[in-house]
Amino acid sequence: LTSLPKRAGLHVIHIAAEMAPVAKVGGLGDVVTGLCKALQKRGHLVEIVLPKYDCMEYERIRDLRALDVVIESYFDGHLFKNKVWVGVVEGLPVYFIEPHHPDNFFWRGQLYGEQDDFKRFSFFSRAALELLLQTGKKPDIIHCHDWQTAFVAPLYWDLYAPKGLDSARICFTCHNFEYQGSAPTSQLASCGLDVHQLNRPDRMQDNLSHDKVNAVKGAIVFSNIVTTVSPTYAQEVRTAEGGRGLHVTLNSHSKKFIGILNGIDTDAWNPATDTFLKVQYNASDLQGKAENKEAIRRHLGLSSADVRRPLVGCITRLVPQKGVHLIRHAIYRTMELGGQFVLLGSSPVPHIQREFEDIANLLKTHEHVRLILKYDDSLSHLIYAAADMFIIPSIFEPCGLTQMIAMRYGAVPIARKTGGLNDSVFDVDDDTIPTQFRNGFTFLNPDEQGLNGALDRALKHYKNNSQSWQQLVQKVMTIDLSWDSSALQYEELYEKSVARARAASSRA
Ligand code: ADP
Repeated sequence: LTSLPKRAGLHVIHIAAEMAPVAKVGGLGDVVTGLCKALQKRGHLVEIVLPKYDCMEYERIRDLRALDVVIESYFDGHLFKNKVWVGVVEGLPVYFIEPHHPDNFFWRGQLYGEQDDFKRFSFFSRAALELLLQTGKKPDIIHCHDWQTAFVAPLYWDLYAPKGLDSARICFTCHNFEYQGSAPTSQLASCGLDVHQLNRPDRMQDNLSHDKVNAVKGAIVFSNIVTTVSPTYAQEVRTAEGGRGLHVTLNSHSKKFIGILNGIDTDAWNPATDTFLKVQYNASDLQGKAENKEAIRRHLGLSSADVRRPLVGCITRLVPQKGVHLIRHAIYRTMELGGQFVLLGSSPVPHIQREFEDIANLLKTHEHVRLILKYDDSLSHLIYAAADMFIIPSIFEPCGLTQMIAMRYGAVPIARKTGGLNDSVFDVDDDTIPTQFRNGFTFLNPDEQGLNGALDRALKHYKNNSQSWQQLVQKVMTIDLSWDSSALQYEELYEKSVARARAASSRA
């Protein structure tokens, strides 16, 4: 027998606005790092291009240094210099672009939420491609993410492939179709795209307001591969209700569109090695989990009187998508049912932040409830480790990572059946699902009654059957939630697309 020759790895460049842990707002950051690490492990050459934000966690970047090259990129009729930095994040090579533009695009103290976000990220998308062109990179795949780097797809085919950066196929992943990057048509011209050519119903014109262009639509039309982050969400966004105007576009490009469930970074999220925790633990030794529960109760000033009082956790951006009214209800319902509740969350929406601050104040000395209304990575680890259950009552959820992280730490998920939650949480009481897959409590209707149905069952199960609960905890902790199988699916998509391109060019 002769052994097969080893396949050569692909050169994959991700262009993104977030990357955990250095620049993270939500799941996008986790996905970029987790997927890239898994692809690197599979033998591919993976590089990442990010903006150089002022507010990054610089201490988590290794060997950061400025390159000698200065990249000039076009914007609004002028060429602007970009200083380029390179460093290593989680073992991955990352380029950071620092534009020398008078608007100080990435010097704002936050990643998003600026009134000129469209301008900031269309600038970045162009500068990233300019970096690849000027440094002579020949990637097989350029993978861009969400509306912030969606501009890469039309820019690549309209401007950069003709300039010679033509080795790549473009993959676009949409992590949330709620955010599409639409703006008045005229704004598209700043990054050098031809508005006249692109402002058409079959290209970048927004399907809902025709005086706007839509960056995500552009990426759907111009990419070779389009993915979203779970199979159920991929179906939902192809309906009028879920697609927010883009269902028509997704349906006409359905051949290249697929939902792949995210994994989690099982090195970063590992209770057996997690240095944030007071005590590390694993599925066959849960004593450490009990000690983490006790530690957080003390840390947050909650009652420790009853070891068996269940602790429900929730870690989330407080936005309507996450079912904020149901989260509020879950706090009170858990109290009624004799549990404890810890919420870690913050909101970019002022009235929601205020509403939760009021609840936090009202309950600030309560012995069974604590609301911590900020973003805090280290605290999030402590809560995952301490919680017996974890609640995710989303109205819609493209994938959701917190249910998976919770399972990894032995907190049983209570989730609404939508999007990626529907692909990763299966009800313990649902006889239609094979027993080995059942791992949590689910509900369908996004209302208080629906939520009660699942929360009440979870608390009852915990109280009345502690042995079977412990088995459930051990089971959820040993589910494979890693990126391995999803990275393989991305790899197959990449390889097929590259093979198609090579076949086409050899025919030409
Ligand atoms: P989304 O991307 O919609 O915010 P996901 O469930 O995909 O939701 O990802 C959320 C990620 O952000 C998880 O890693 C979660 O732990 C983290 N996270 C959310 N809110 C906070 C917070 N207030 N503090 C720390 N981490 C948070």
